[in-house]
Amino acid sequence: MLEIRNIEAYYGETQALFGASLSVGRAEVVALLGPNGAGKTTTIRSILGLTRARSGTISFEGAEITSLPTHRISGMGISWVPDDRRVFPTLTVARNLQIARRRTGYREWKVADMFGIFSALEHLMPRECENLSGGEMQMVAISRALLASPGLVLFDEPSQGLAPRIVQDVMKTVRLLKAEGISSLIVEQNALAALEVSDRVYVMDRGRIVHEGPARELVENPARRRDLIGM
Ligand code: ATP
Repeated sequence: MLEIRNIEAYYGETQALFGASLSVGRAEVVALLGPNGAGKTTTIRSILGLTRARSGTISFEGAEITSLPTHRISGMGISWVPDDRRVFPTLTVARNLQIARRRTGYREWKVADMFGIFSALEHLMPRECENLSGGEMQMVAISRALLASPGLVLFDEPSQGLAPRIVQDVMKTVRLLKAEGISSLIVEQNALAALEVSDRVYVMDRGRIVHEGPARELVENPARRRDLIGM
């Protein structure tokens, strides 16, 4: 579904990605792990066309998207749950959800479906997003990503700063997406929760993929996991 081949990306003269390659299959959950500054967010930004890859190619559903504008890429069915949530702070939750809706050809979710996933969301609808807690904002950010009808969801540090119960809700959502045939790429520094929900894992360090394999292998082998991701 998503195929990244040998991308190199820069911030000015600073090279952040050195020929990174990875793929995500249909209904597959893939974790992209690695330390601070490894290039995980840059990989997501490159997929979305927010940071242009200077070389290499990125394809989605067989079509090359490397040079497409971001709105075209998201319109093809790639949704993003940013690490800083990026909801509209002065708008209500209801309005934030309403304006996120989009048709792409993938499953169209309704706001009522979101209440089934995040039971707390319904009573938050009239609240302005700037008054929400971090966990509540994450529910809105994920709901916005789903209401945009994705075939692939990019989660950037989805458990960062969240209480364990909300992290479980996030991972439950990833499982639900998989059951619906929707793929996820989950970027985390070192979250076991992400590994437990993933089919495959890539580990990145200093702009390069340094490990690729089944996620189960790292869940079941703590010594190997410590070697690769220090946890
Ligand atoms: P983190 O977990 O801290 O978000 P990351 O794996 O997502 O780390 P990136 O944010 O992709 O890493 O950063 C990769 C490299 O690019 C780092 O060396 C970082 O300092 C550099 N970098 C990231 N954003 C910028 C920017 N806006 N300007 C210059 N350099 C940047």
